[in-house]
Amino acid sequence: MNALATLPEPIVAAEPAADFDVVVLGAGVIGINTAYWALRHGKSVCVIDRQPAAGLETSFANGGQISVSHAEPWANPSAPLKVLKWLFNGNSPLLFRPKLDVHQWLWLARFLVDCLPHRAQRHTIEIVRLAAESRKLLQDIRNREGFHYDERTRGILHFYRDKHEYEAAAHVAELMRKYGCNRQVIGRERVLEIEPAFAERIDDIVGATYTAEDESGDALLYTQGLASVCERQGATFLYGSDAVALEADRAAGAVHSIEVRTPQGYRTLRGRDVVVCLGSYSAPFLRRYGVSLAIYPAKGYSVTIPTEGSNHAPVTSLTDDEYKLVYSNLGGRLRVAGTAELSGYGRDLNHRRCHAILENARNLFPRAGNFAKAMFWTGLRPTTPSNIPYVGRTRYRNLWLNTGHGTLGWTMGAGSGHRVMEMIAGGAGPVVA
Ligand SMILES: Cc1cc2nc3c(=O)[nH]c(=O)nc-3n(C[C@H](O)[C@H](O)[C@H](O)COP(=O)(O)OP(=O)(O)OC[C@H]3O[C@@H](n4cnc5c(N)ncnc54)[C@H](O)[C@@H]3O)c2cc1C
Repeated sequence: MNALATLPEPIVAAEPAADFDVVVLGAGVIGINTAYWALRHGKSVCVIDRQPAAGLETSFANGGQISVSHAEPWANPSAPLKVLKWLFNGNSPLLFRPKLDVHQWLWLARFLVDCLPHRAQRHTIEIVRLAAESRKLLQDIRNREGFHYDERTRGILHFYRDKHEYEAAAHVAELMRKYGCNRQVIGRERVLEIEPAFAERIDDIVGATYTAEDESGDALLYTQGLASVCERQGATFLYGSDAVALEADRAAGAVHSIEVRTPQGYRTLRGRDVVVCLGSYSAPFLRRYGVSLAIYPAKGYSVTIPTEGSNHAPVTSLTDDEYKLVYSNLGGRLRVAGTAELSGYGRDLNHRRCHAILENARNLFPRAGNFAKAMFWTGLRPTTPSNIPYVGRTRYRNLWLNTGHGTLGWTMGAGSGHRVMEMIAGGAGPVVA
């Protein structure tokens, strides 16, 4: 008799079958891009969001720029002095409200370290690379899926009123050109050719940079358009559903399931891989599992002015360096966005700051539209000190991050979604937190 034949079958703890190949937490512009690339890899996908539809938090009314040319992070060598100057001015582009919050102070300390010239340069190069790759992928998605989002492909013009800032920008533009962003330094005449709406204010401008390949559009329309594409391609969406907890096994280094509060009650979902795209909420959500992210919310404002057929609204997307505001014409609406408040997770509208943005826009383009009908909005940028997002794996082998895109979430979204899915499909990626 064959002794081996009498031995009992070894007991193997079989992993319960996953409900989906990939579960994406968060349906902002980042989560939806992630879901899209997962589908392109042939994966089954489920997206979970607490809101009733995609894109209703930070991706709702942003500045509308696809701006590789905006790759220089806030943390750069000129930042500490500027920040000091702005700290005590309620109208400044950056407002810091100190809190009894260790995460805010730690973030600030890391921000200051990232202002060191060699770090700022390294981060600029990294962001240019990801953003340029992303812009190309976004064009690929647009052409392939054939949906529209009030997009404009007229480039982005950064204009300067201060000679020193203009000269500093020329250096940054040179660095960017080296790494794949065709940001050109231009004079006033060329500014007027590109943006005739400057006619009445051209004397205030000392010069500009222009990046013809940059684009603009409505990030919400993009996010919801791409979510519809994902739905048609078979993705499951659980809206109105809070991701409340992970069943995370530290010893095994794996996440077994996600506890979700849906409108119908609690549900446990298993994903072979889980990607966290919860924007500013990624950090508090993951802290209890020992995953520590340096993401802090930077509240920003936008004002949307109906142009009501005006021929005097800018047609090119613009960046006003002095006031740190961006302008995008979204077909019938002029979106003006900017400012940053490091003041926690509150999203309340400070009317003084709303009207400061409105007045800046009115001073520059007084006949651009109906300023009396302007709509105001705030959103929380999920900001890392370097503005480089977390794209990669955590200490749990099937828990991935695609989060912390700060000022450039829409610009980097198609690219970072693609990157994280390449890692997942290949079964390997750097541990980033
Ligand atoms: C004023 C302003 C102007 C900007 N301008 C530009 C610009 O011109 N160009 C550019 O590229 N970027 C810009 N940005 C940045 C960009 O908007 C963000 O980086 C981007 O929207 C972040 O996307 P996200 O998907 O990470 O976050 P979000 O859009 O906030 O998505 C996160 C999602 O997670 C969900 N969620 C959170 N917690 C839970 C939970 N526990 N359970 C279930 N769901 C949850 C939320 O409901 C939300 O839908 C701007 C931002 C602001 C505020």
